[in-house]
Amino acid sequence: MLLVRLFIILIILLILPAGCGKGIVAPETPGEMKGQIENKPGVVEKSPVTALPEDKGTPVLKATVIYIVDGDTIHVRLENGRKEKVRFIGVDTPESTRIVELYGKEAAAYTRKELTDRTVYLELDVAQRDKYGRLLAYVWLMPPRENSKTEVRKAMFNATLLLIGLAQVMTVPPNVKYADIFVEFQKEAREAEKGLWGTIKTPAPVSISNKASTETKYIGNSNSKKFHRPDCQWAQKIAPRNRVEFGKREEAIKAGYQPCKTCKP
Ligand SMILES: [Zn+2]
Repeated sequence: MLLVRLFIILIILLILPAGCGKGIVAPETPGEMKGQIENKPGVVEKSPVTALPEDKGTPVLKATVIYIVDGDTIHVRLENGRKEKVRFIGVDTPESTRIVELYGKEAAAYTRKELTDRTVYLELDVAQRDKYGRLLAYVWLMPPRENSKTEVRKAMFNATLLLIGLAQVMTVPPNVKYADIFVEFQKEAREAEKGLWGTIKTPAPVSISNKASTETKYIGNSNSKKFHRPDCQWAQKIAPRNRVEFGKREEAIKAGYQPCKTCKP
């Protein structure tokens, strides 16, 4: 075991000089990670990237966001013009079940709103790519200087998604640089019932909505203050956290809700 470790350390030491100094060597291709040294046609070449800032900041890849795939996956153009698909490290935006999927869409919309066309600074961790060849990164909105918890909270987009409850922590070793901070931020969002945590903590309206036609007469949107018949298209689009139910029309009116003009409840 010890020998194996020593061997690994030796290998790292041999590889390291290429990645030291001011820049990080830009992302290795999956082929290279498997130990194939030759460049094959179509395989991206290594290209050195300048560290920002010059003095004592963390090495990052400056990039422009050109496309949003979903809440945690984007396409960027690096400074050298190369395009990369980037998966955020340490977080996972929802997509699985019907309810959680709603937050998947919100997360994608949020990422699209915040990051499209924006300059970002990609910090990499130990593993540069996943098995799909995507670049794995912490997406900073400004160049990180001290990488403190405060700075992560303020300027790292991965952390923002956790803080507003649009993502959950997903730690995949060896990329664990900020895992503890991420867990802390997630706890904070969960306790404040932000985003998807609000849904999970108060599942009642969601489960009732499945049998709305038998048990619920009217569905309100606490955000728009409108109320609907359960089968109204607009009622079905209300985010779970904004969904309110009324047994009687008068209850909705008394609560200050206006009848929808489409379904006329
Ligand atoms: Zn309606």
